[in-house]
Amino acid sequence: MIYLKTKEEIELMRESALMVSRTLAIVAREVKPGVTPSFLDKLAEEFIRDNGGVPAFKGYKGHNGAPDFPATLCMSINEAVVHGIPTIEPLKEGDIISVDCGVKKNGFYGDHAYTFAVGNIKPEVQKLIDVTKECLYLGIEKMISGNRIGDISYAIQQHAEKNGYGVVRELVGHGLGKNLHEEPEVPNYGKRGNGPKITEGMVLAIEPMINMGTKNIKQLKDGWTIITADSKPSAHFEHDVAVVNGKPEILSTYAYIEEALALVK
Ligand code: MG
Ligand code: MG
Repeated sequence: MIYLKTKEEIELMRESALMVSRTLAIVAREVKPGVTPSFLDKLAEEFIRDNGGVPAFKGYKGHNGAPDFPATLCMSINEAVVHGIPTIEPLKEGDIISVDCGVKKNGFYGDHAYTFAVGNIKPEVQKLIDVTKECLYLGIEKMISGNRIGDISYAIQQHAEKNGYGVVRELVGHGLGKNLHEEPEVPNYGKRGNGPKITEGMVLAIEPMINMGTKNIKQLKDGWTIITADSKPSAHFEHDVAVVNGKPEILSTYAYIEEALALVK
């Protein structure tokens, strides 16, 4: 069942989404060699709780006997695709780190992600980051009333594969609302004209996960971290988007992150 949102509900969802945006900007200011992911995770949790939100991933139920997710942020470094657990291992020059954050506020979830460079990174890794972000916006452009979910999926897949990258199949974007994961699923691969129809009031978390090499993935023994099968890097960007007046309206923003990154540089 797809739950469509009223204009009022979309405004509440914007608050949740923007709280995630501000949280990611705090991370943006601090991402550098020598900093530990677990320190960044503490900053994020404090900020969310101080502002009346609840971290959505902390305590998220594990599957197949895995422990519940222990942290506020998913922090996935280099070959880690998503769902990485923050550790006390310091970040190194040349790493990339995908940071995914979920917040619940006023009964609604926000869920979005950004991939950061740690210091100077190789040009080919920067290109992977840039193309993954482009994939996100190309997908969002297709979120128009009357289109199908497959139109979003196709746009993302085409751009990634045109650049020689692998598109993860097993993990997908999703509807978002009073639940962190709602219908419909939003795969990052697919056919134009396929899948559920896009309609007014639909809210989606669109989230391309793009690998430099193979599309294939593995799960680590921690029950959470997903890595690429060939150990090449992977990038992940995610926005929360509503259909308003027939067109996509991005509820989250990278503006705060980009401001923070400009100040650090
Ligand atoms: Mg997410
Ligand atoms: Mg998501």
